[in-house]
Amino acid sequence: MSKILIIGAGGVGSVTTHKCAQLPETFSQIVLASRTKSKCDAIAQSVRDRTGRTIETAALDADNVEMTTAFLEKIKPDIVVNLALPYQDLPIMDACLDAGIDYLDTANYEPPDQAKFEYKWQWAYRESFKDKGIMALLGSGFDPGVTNVFCAWAQKHHFDEIHELDIIDCNAGDHGQSFATNFNPEINIREITQPGRFWDHGEWVETDPLSWSMKYDFPEGIGPRQCYLMYHEELESLVLHLRGLKRARFWMTFSQQYLTHLRVLENVGMTRIDPVDYNGTPVVPLKFLKAVLPEPASLGPLTKGRTCIGCLLKGLKDGKPKTLYVYNICSHEEAYEEVGSQAISYTTGVPAMIGAMMMLEKRWHRPGVWNMEQFDPDPFMDALNRYGLPWKAVE
Ligand code: NDP
Repeated sequence: MSKILIIGAGGVGSVTTHKCAQLPETFSQIVLASRTKSKCDAIAQSVRDRTGRTIETAALDADNVEMTTAFLEKIKPDIVVNLALPYQDLPIMDACLDAGIDYLDTANYEPPDQAKFEYKWQWAYRESFKDKGIMALLGSGFDPGVTNVFCAWAQKHHFDEIHELDIIDCNAGDHGQSFATNFNPEINIREITQPGRFWDHGEWVETDPLSWSMKYDFPEGIGPRQCYLMYHEELESLVLHLRGLKRARFWMTFSQQYLTHLRVLENVGMTRIDPVDYNGTPVVPLKFLKAVLPEPASLGPLTKGRTCIGCLLKGLKDGKPKTLYVYNICSHEEAYEEVGSQAISYTTGVPAMIGAMMMLEKRWHRPGVWNMEQFDPDPFMDALNRYGLPWKAVE
C-alpha cells in the first residue's frame, strides 16, 4: 500500500498517472498536483473513465519550496514523481529533503536563464539525501532512463567491455502539423539548438548544432532515416559507469521540414531565451513561441506511426568482438488508445511509473542520489515487457 504524488499535469504526467492507476496493488493512492489544477482534473476524469479509480488533485507551484514542503508534510506521500519541467528539479528536491520523502524525475536540472543541462547540480545532493536516509532516482524516462537500463543490462549479460555506444532515437511518427514538438516545446528547442557533444577516448568533443548526421536503417519496417548527433544527458553518467568505454554518442531523427522551420525560427530570433522589450513588457521569445505552438498533449489523437529508440553497443565478450542492438518500438496510435497520449509521452511516462514501482517495492532502494544504470537492470527490463514497452535484443 503506498501513496504516490505526481507533480506536473502535462503529456508525461498524464501517462504516468494513467499507468499508476492501472496498478492499484502498487499505487494504492494517487495524488496529481500541478500549477494549473484544471489540467489535473481533466486527467483525473480520464483516469476515472478508463479505470474507475478516483485520484486526488491539487494546485501547486513547485518553484515555491516552502509551499511544496508544507504540501508534502500534509499529504505524506511515500514518493514524489517530478514530471514538471527541469527548472523544478532543485526546488522539488529541496522540498523532498525538508519533508524526508523519496524523489524521482525524468530530466536533469536546467537553469532557466542558461540552456545548459548537467547533472552537477543534482549530484551535489548525494550526501544530504544519504544523510537524511532518502533516495533520488534521476532520469527515469526513456532517454535518459530506459537507454541507461539497456546499457546496464548489456553490460551485465552480454559484454566484458563495452567500447562503443550509440543511442539512437527515432520518431517515425507524423502528426500532420507544419511544426510542433512532441514534448514541452521550450525544453525541446533549448535542447536541440545546443552544440552537439560526444565522448571520444576520455574527452568530450563538441560539434556545431545538428551538423553531424548519419543514415540508420531502423528495424521492423521503419527503414532508413537521417539521424543527427546531439548531446544528451545520459551520456554524462553512462561514461562513468560503462566498463572500457571509448566512444559514446547520441543521435535523433528529424525531418527536413522540422529542421527548416527550426532554422528560420533561430534566424529570426524566436528561439532566444533572454528577455526582449516589447512595448515595455519583457518577453522571452522562446516562451512566447511555446505559447503559440501546439500543446504536445494535443498531438495525441493526430499522431500516427511508431517510435524506435535503442542502444547500439560494440565491445568484447570472452575476448571476441560483439555487437548488440537493444531497442523498443512504440506505436503512437496504440499509446493513444490505451492512455490518450502519443508515444513520446508514453515512452517517458511508463518508465517513470516503473522507476517509482522499483523504489516503492524496495527492489531499487538506497539512500543517496542515483542514475538508472547504477541499479540491477533485470527487474526493470522485466517490467518494461509487462507494462507496455517490450524490447528486443539483436546480436
Ligand atoms: P509539459 O509541458 O506537457 O508538462 C509540464 C507540466 O508541468 C505542465 O502541466 C506544467 O503546468 C507543469 N509545471 C510547470 N511548472 C510548474 C511549477 N512551477 N509547479 C508545478 N507544475 C509546473 O511537459 P511534458 O509532460 O512533455 O514533459 C515533462 C517532463 O518530462 C519534462 O521535464 C521533460 O523534459 C521530461 N521528458 C523526459 C523525457 C525522457 O525520455 N527522459 C522525454 C520527454 C520529456 P502548466 O500547464 O500550468 O504550465
